[in-house]
Amino acid sequence: MTHKSNILLIYTGGTIGMIKDSKTGILRNFNFDNLLEHIPELNLLDCSIGSQSFTIPIDSSNMNPNYWVDLANIIEDNYDAFDGFVVLHGSDTMSYTASALSFMFENLDKPIIFTGSQLPIGDLRTDAKENLITSIQIAALRENGKPKVNEVGLYFEYKLYRANRTTKLTAEHFKAFSSPNYPPLAQSGVHLIFNEQALLKHKRGNKLKVHKNFETNILLVKMFPGINEETITHLFSCPNIKGLILETYGSGNVTNESWFMEQLKLIHEKEVPIINVTQCSGGSVAMGPYETSVGLKKLGVISGKDITTEAALAKLMYLLGQQIPSSRFKSLFETSLRGEMV
Ligand code: ASP
Repeated sequence: MTHKSNILLIYTGGTIGMIKDSKTGILRNFNFDNLLEHIPELNLLDCSIGSQSFTIPIDSSNMNPNYWVDLANIIEDNYDAFDGFVVLHGSDTMSYTASALSFMFENLDKPIIFTGSQLPIGDLRTDAKENLITSIQIAALRENGKPKVNEVGLYFEYKLYRANRTTKLTAEHFKAFSSPNYPPLAQSGVHLIFNEQALLKHKRGNKLKVHKNFETNILLVKMFPGINEETITHLFSCPNIKGLILETYGSGNVTNESWFMEQLKLIHEKEVPIINVTQCSGGSVAMGPYETSVGLKKLGVISGKDITTEAALAKLMYLLGQQIPSSRFKSLFETSLRGEMV
């Protein structure tokens, strides 16, 4: 007898779960207990679906690591009872949450698929139904008795991406996400076609570990022409700062004016890890080729390589939360842990 997948649908909030009140026309959160009533198409899927919702669904602009832990707890508590998980989440910070979950779940051997929509599920022109139905189908897919996907994915507008490679691209179009440095894991058309090479391979036998500590005393600074000494001195002297991400130009370049390099040196002497990520939407950091990055390399600044800012932020909070000794921090950050960088 073939195994019928059991999928847990978790609603955290966001546009996807909203429905227009037919009398007032106002958008309100949809009662997930009545899921099948609102989306009868789900009955046609060849899997059983359970659902859970955050007690108070949130707009994803209010997301934070405490909610990441709440979500991880729901998945961990139900891990053995379900074959896959679909997380409905606002698109605004979906890439941050999904990246964080990818680091939290070590040795994942089931799919956790994030999705959302640009228009509410109750809207006539909604993109929510396709996103939701195909996400559930992907989460339910099995091959040789095992789940097809063993990682945290993000499905939106006909593409499944590795979640920690994504970034929100537009507030307007249905294709809201892109994965600039990694190919889609699957594409949905008449057929659902997987890019087999791109999928993470699960190392069988390694037990699931769920990490829940995040250090939030970190700073993300986007460099811009005209950023001045007073601002940088103020920011870098925050008393409790445990990590710094610099969003640099091009392939990882910053101003090499002495006041800036001096401030970086001071923060480095406090053993605060400094991560270099590019503010370009694609491509990689490579420190050394230009004079404006040689100083960073000499200082021991950590290369974010081709990581997204969202994944860098989640990885930094996660690794700092693991109390990694500073001697190992650089090499660990520069290693791909969940396929988030080359
Ligand atoms: N503001 C909403 C959110 O991120 C937008 C969306 O659901 O896509 O929660």
